[in-house]
Amino acid sequence: MGAPPTRPADRALAKPRRRLTSAVAALVALLAVGAGVLVGLSTPAPRPADAPAGEFSAARAYRNVEVIAAEPHVAGSAANDRVREHLVATLRGLGLQTEVQDAVAPEAGQLSGAAGGATLARVRNVVARLPGTDPTGKVFLVSHYDSVQTGPGGNDDAAGTATILEVARALTTGPRPRNDIVFVLTDAEEACLCGAAGFAGDHPLARDGGVVLNLEARGSTGPVIMFETSRNNAKLVEVFGRAAPHPVGTSFAVEIYRALPNDTDFTAFLDREFVGLNSAYIDGGAIYHTPLDVPARVDRGSLQMHGDNALGLTREFGRTDLGDLRAGHDDTYFPVLGGLVSYPGWLTLPLAVAALLAVGALGWLLRRRGRATAGTLAAGFGLTLVPVVVAPLGAWLLWAAITTIRPGYAELLDPYRPVWYRLAVVALSAAVLFCWYALLRRRVGPAALAFGGLAWLAVFGVLLAVAVPGGAYLTTLPALAGALAGFAALATRRDGPWPVVAVTLAAAVAVVILLPPVVLLFPALGMGMGAVAALVAVLLGLAVLPVVDLLHPRAGGQRGLLALRARRLGALPATAAALAAVVLAGVGLAVDRFDAAHPVPTHLMYALDAGTGKATWLTREEKPQPWTDGYVDGTVSVADDFPGLGNSEMRAGPAAAAPLPAPKVDVLSDTRTGDQRVLRLRVVPQRQVRLLTLHVDTSTATVRSASVAGRDVPVEPGDGKWGFGVVFHAPPPEGVEVTLTLVPGSGAVSVRAMDASDGLSGVPGFRPRPPDVGVVGSHSSEMLAVARTYPI
Ligand SMILES: [Zn+2]
Repeated sequence: MGAPPTRPADRALAKPRRRLTSAVAALVALLAVGAGVLVGLSTPAPRPADAPAGEFSAARAYRNVEVIAAEPHVAGSAANDRVREHLVATLRGLGLQTEVQDAVAPEAGQLSGAAGGATLARVRNVVARLPGTDPTGKVFLVSHYDSVQTGPGGNDDAAGTATILEVARALTTGPRPRNDIVFVLTDAEEACLCGAAGFAGDHPLARDGGVVLNLEARGSTGPVIMFETSRNNAKLVEVFGRAAPHPVGTSFAVEIYRALPNDTDFTAFLDREFVGLNSAYIDGGAIYHTPLDVPARVDRGSLQMHGDNALGLTREFGRTDLGDLRAGHDDTYFPVLGGLVSYPGWLTLPLAVAALLAVGALGWLLRRRGRATAGTLAAGFGLTLVPVVVAPLGAWLLWAAITTIRPGYAELLDPYRPVWYRLAVVALSAAVLFCWYALLRRRVGPAALAFGGLAWLAVFGVLLAVAVPGGAYLTTLPALAGALAGFAALATRRDGPWPVVAVTLAAAVAVVILLPPVVLLFPALGMGMGAVAALVAVLLGLAVLPVVDLLHPRAGGQRGLLALRARRLGALPATAAALAAVVLAGVGLAVDRFDAAHPVPTHLMYALDAGTGKATWLTREEKPQPWTDGYVDGTVSVADDFPGLGNSEMRAGPAAAAPLPAPKVDVLSDTRTGDQRVLRLRVVPQRQVRLLTLHVDTSTATVRSASVAGRDVPVEPGDGKWGFGVVFHAPPPEGVEVTLTLVPGSGAVSVRAMDASDGLSGVPGFRPRPPDVGVVGSHSSEMLAVARTYPI
């Protein structure tokens, strides 16, 4: 019923107690919905080792995690050979046709480590097949069994590999599926995604494509999120929602993931027109790629979730007709209380426009009913931008302050115990919102402020629908629900129960849709980008404000004595939330200290020029930690001396020369025809190394074409002295053959060979780290490189 905000006869004025009762009931209902959302995002209880044979058991899978991640096993190492033998023996033991694909493979995606050149690896993929009874296609279960140099890879990706072994075991206990199931345990994922590229590009079983389920981890805990799909995913998403027992996934994640500099084996399959789904758990990112990624740090609940979903999906894709899985469109999808809701992506823009129109119509109605004026509506809209901007800014400043107090956070993906900081950001967002509301409620009015929130949600919905369609549902649906609730509230008696019911239902929609991204964005982006989660938290807060407003003793904007009391009351939640933010940040700083179990990460490399005897310590830390600072005293560009390390600037300092040999370059043949010279070279490592590089000084010769181990590689002249180069991971001891077709200059052709290994602690001058100093999770930590230039 449309009474002007300040009319004394307003019946709601006379019933503050009833208003408070309904407010408490509504908030309890919302809290219950929020709890339901969190339960829907939680991991299942791990099943014991004696679970029925047809089920996935995290306890059984974990035994294989312990074997696979017993020690670091980088591609090409003896430790990786032992892991591969265990995988082959296990799969053969299940009666599966199992082989090792031994090949030289190129990289996938855009990871190139070589300026103007190519990256390859010698890979040995483990491939096993469970033949179907009447196949319509193939289902590929994929994970990588290699680890980074710096850690044993308990989560990344022993967990995924052990999950596939346990799924294979469960599948062989039941009736054979209709479609072929192929288990692909890839090599050299960490180096260059080369194993997956080698399988997808060259293996006979990959020739006709199929459905790929890739299993990964970028952390140690949390729900398994299906975060990436092939294009035109509607049919795949439909199967995912139906067959995965814990379908946590959102079309928004696909868009977030594309903006991050990560890649997985899945990329190699997408390059080859496979369809499929990519899943990973991502919380606990502090130990990612570090020596701490040991089996004991694998959350068995996450492992169980990986397995439940992988087994459910493999069974379903195992019986589905795989002939027509590519739909004509992408779906929008998101988790709802343990299930998955999806609708066609082409509805995104019409829905966003409908939400905008509905919110506009609500504004018009509010004005007609005297709940707001054109002026207050405009003020509500304009002033809503304040918390939308200030809360993310505050989150960013808060983290800047915390990293100033604790600089070691700079090199961490996420703190070891991030929960206090995450809660601090949420409390800060609430403080900003409550403060803003307390200041404006009387002047602008609750109806106009609610309109402002809905209007921005609707505007964001349209912007997202155009730019990031998979994320448009986040704001479109709460805006639409809020507008419909507004219509319902205006159409019913103002002092009756229906307005409260309507705004509570709309707020519940917002909680269901916007709480999961608040929860998942923190681990996905890390505290450094906590501002993004703060923004989503504020949008959620704006959508929920009409319910919080019920706590206010008076429905409209008041004046006089009552208003004074109301304003004091209004300041209470803002003060409480601000205090909570400070306390939570303080608790975070007190609880999350660096110690031996949670060391501050440091990055150190050693590079030696075996020709000149000059050696250098290098670090990628921008502001080196005290331990690292003892090695470096300036900044260098490594592009000229160590082109295999990329062309970035690094902090550096002088080091003693270690008696280490550079790789040899043997000339196998050298033929000249016309102005061309064809050089067949063999680059031979002189020690146990994990990669070799060969670069050509393009001022001494122009590279026309090149092949590596018999594989043609693309030639795209790069910048700088070493304009063409090849990076080869996991080289065999006998070395790698490189054939260069050149147009030489007048003198000798200058080439530079480099290798890289572990063993940093054996270098003269290395000082062991104190217990509370650890190793950064990166592909170049602890690298020991030796280079030399050869005139040919
Ligand atoms: Zn990894």
